[in-house]
Amino acid sequence: MWIPTLMSTSLIATVAVAAPIDKTLSYLVPDSLRETARVGMRLQVPLGRRRAVGYLMTLTEGDPAGLKPVAEVLDAAPLFSAEMVPFFTRAAEYYCHPIGEVVRTALPAGLSGRGEGVSILREKVYAATDLAGEPTGALQKEVLALVREPGRLALSELRQSVAVPYGALRRLVELGYLVETEEERLRDPFLALPVTVDAVPEPTAEQAAVLGEIEPALASRVFAPFLLHGVTGSGKTEVYLKAIETVLEQGRRALVLVPEIALTPQLVARFRSRFAGGRATIAVLHSGLSDGERYDAWRAIARGEVEIVIGARSAVFAPLADLGIVVVDEEHEASYKQGEGFRYHARDLALLRAQMAGAVVLLGSATPAVTTFYRAQSGQTGLLSLSGRVLERPLPQVELVDLTASPFGEYLSEQLAESMRENLERGEQSLLLLNRRGFAPYLLCSDCGTTFRCPNCEITLTYHQERRQLRCHYCDFIQAPPELCPKCQGGNVLPEGVGTERLEVELAERFPDARIARMDRDTTARKGAHQQLMERMSRREIDILVGTQMIAKGHDFHGVTLVGVINADSTLNFPDFRSAERTFSLLTQVAGRAGRGELTGRVLIQTYSPEHYALTCAAQHDYQEFYQQEVAFREVLDYPPFGHLVNLVLSGNDGKKVAGAAEFLAEALQGATGEVDVLGPAPCPLAKLRGKTRVQILLKAPTRMPLRRLLMHLPQLQKKITAGVGLTVDVDPVDML
Ligand code: ADP
Ligand code: ZN
Repeated sequence: MWIPTLMSTSLIATVAVAAPIDKTLSYLVPDSLRETARVGMRLQVPLGRRRAVGYLMTLTEGDPAGLKPVAEVLDAAPLFSAEMVPFFTRAAEYYCHPIGEVVRTALPAGLSGRGEGVSILREKVYAATDLAGEPTGALQKEVLALVREPGRLALSELRQSVAVPYGALRRLVELGYLVETEEERLRDPFLALPVTVDAVPEPTAEQAAVLGEIEPALASRVFAPFLLHGVTGSGKTEVYLKAIETVLEQGRRALVLVPEIALTPQLVARFRSRFAGGRATIAVLHSGLSDGERYDAWRAIARGEVEIVIGARSAVFAPLADLGIVVVDEEHEASYKQGEGFRYHARDLALLRAQMAGAVVLLGSATPAVTTFYRAQSGQTGLLSLSGRVLERPLPQVELVDLTASPFGEYLSEQLAESMRENLERGEQSLLLLNRRGFAPYLLCSDCGTTFRCPNCEITLTYHQERRQLRCHYCDFIQAPPELCPKCQGGNVLPEGVGTERLEVELAERFPDARIARMDRDTTARKGAHQQLMERMSRREIDILVGTQMIAKGHDFHGVTLVGVINADSTLNFPDFRSAERTFSLLTQVAGRAGRGELTGRVLIQTYSPEHYALTCAAQHDYQEFYQQEVAFREVLDYPPFGHLVNLVLSGNDGKKVAGAAEFLAEALQGATGEVDVLGPAPCPLAKLRGKTRVQILLKAPTRMPLRRLLMHLPQLQKKITAGVGLTVDVDPVDML
C-alpha cells in the first residue's frame, strides 16, 4: 500500500514583542493553543532566557524548524482585528519605533503588565421565558411581572424597583419562569449623564456647499482628506455632525479626535444630543476613565458595538471596523503629538489610518498648522472653507497694546485696566490670558542677584506663594523659599515677573468688588474642579477669569465680552521655529472667546512686539496673510513644510559620555549620507532635565525618503553607543526643548 508522506507544516505566529526590538518574531503555535490563539491577542512568549508579552500579528501555516513555542495565550478575545496590523506596521516604520512598543502604546493602559488582566464588571441579567402561569409568592409574582414587561432586566435595574433577595430570583430560575445569564457591563460614567436633545439646524449656504464636497467622497468610500478651515463659531462642528450622520446611514463608523476631552464637554454634549435615543452608540475615551472602564470601552468597540468614538490622541488606535470618517478637531493642536515613548502625531496617524480604511478625513481648524495648509494649497488635501460666523455674529475687535509705552513692571496697561473697569460696570465678563502659572517665574535677591535653579534641570524655579514653594515645572522638584539670600544673607529676596497667581492677587486689590477666579493646572488638579469653574462662569458667578491657555479652549461663555492677553511675547520668544505659528493660533483662539453671545466682543493684546506679523495678523483675523509671511520664513530656512525633520536626543547622567556618544553618532550619520543635513550635536534648549544631560542631533532633508534610508542605519549604530546613554528618535518633532 502506498502511503503519502505528510509534509510537516505547523501554525506559525508572528509576534510583536513588547520590547525594544525593531521587528516581529516568529513562534510556533503548539497544538494545545491552536484553537484559542487569534490575531489581536496578547501572548506570553520566550525571549532569550525570560518570558515577554507579545501581540499576535499574523497566523500562517509554515515550517516550524527552529522556532520556539508560544507559552500562553493571555486573552479570551482579540484586542484588535487583523485590519489594524498593517496600520501598526506602517506607524512603526514611519516613526522608527519598535513595533511591539507601538502596539503596547495603542492598547488601553493597564494591559501591559505581565499577564494580569483587568477585572471586567459582570452582571446578572434575567430574561422571562414563555412558561405560562404564576409563581405562588407575592414577591416572586411582582419580580416576574417586572421582568416580563421589557422581557429582560439586569439585576441592578430590577433592584431599583424591588428589594429582591438573590434566593427568590434563583427560585424563579429553578421553576423555569426566568433564565439567568451573565453579561459584561460597560462602565462609562460619561454616558450615564443625562442628555438634552437640541434642535437640528438647517445647514447654512456655506455649510451646505462644504457638505456638497464631502458627501460624494463619502459615497465613493475612498480615502479623501479635507482641511475644514473656519473661524471659531463658523459651524465646523455642525458639519462634522452632518457628515457623520451620512456615514452612519451607510452602516459605517466614525472616529472623532479632540485635543483634550476634559476641555471639550460641550462638543461631547452636542454629539450625545444629536445621536441620543439609540440612534448611535457613542464611546467617549477620556483621561478620567479608570483602567477598567477604558478596557470595557475598548472591548465594546472591538466587538463592534460602538458607532462613534470620541477621544483624545490615543483614540486614533481605537479598534473601530468599517471606518467611514475620521474627524480631527483643532488639528493644529500640539497635544496631538505624544511627547515621550512612541512619539506619534495623532493627526498624521489619522490620515494614515483613513488611507488604509478608505475613509474621509476632516481636519478642522480656525488656524490650521502651516504644514496642513500647505498640503491643502498644493492639492494633496481638499480645502473647504467656512468664511464667517454662523448667524453673522461679528468677529471681535482686536487691538494691540504697546507695552514699551507702559511703565516698567506694570502688568496691566491703563488701556486694559480701563476696559476691565467698564466691563465690570456693565456686568459683563472678562477673560485674562497669562501663559504662566505660579506667583512669579523666579525669585531674585535684589542685593546680590542670586536666583534659584532646579538642581535637576538647571532652569529657574517658579515661586508659588499660596503653597510657599519654589517648584520646577519640568521635574516637580520642590523646595521651601528662603527667608534670607543663601549667598549674601540679605533679606531682599523678591518675586520677579508675574504668574497667574500673582495676577489674581493684584486684580483683587485693584477691583475689590469683582468676583475673580483662576483657571490653571494648579486650580484644576482636583477632579471636577475644571468643570466647576466652567459652570460658575456659565452661571455668571465670576466677573474676571484669569488663566493659562486652558481658558482659550473648548468652551462657549456667552457673557464674555472682553479678552485681555497680558503678554503675547511669552510664546513669541520661545526658542522654536513654530513660535510664531503657536502665538498666532493661541491669540486667535483666545480672541474667539469674546462675543460668543448676543453682545460683540473686544480683545486687547499687550505686547512688546506690536509690529510682529503673528500679532498684526491675529488682530486682523487674517490667516491668509499670516500663512504667506510664515511660509516665506520657513522656506528660507528649509523648515517644514519645505524640509522634514528628525530630532535625535541623547541623554544620560554622565555628561562626558553623552557628548562622546553624540559626536560618534553625528559623525557616523554624516558618513552614511550625502542627502541629509546632520546638524549638531548641540546641547538641547533644556540642556539638563531631571538630572540628565541632553544633547541633540537634528536631521533635515527636503523629502522623507533620504531620512528613512538614513534612519535604517540607526538600530546598528545604536548598539555601538556607550552604555548609560539613551537615544530617543523624534520624527516630525513638535517640541524641541
Ligand atoms: P465651530 O465648531 O466652527 O466653532 P459650531 O458648529 O459650534 O462652530 O457653530 C457655532 C454656533 O452656531 C453653535 O452654537 C451652533 O449650534 C450654531 N450653528 C451651527 N450651524 C448652524 C446652523 N446651520 N443654523 C443655526 N445655528 C447653527
Ligand atoms: Zn527640575
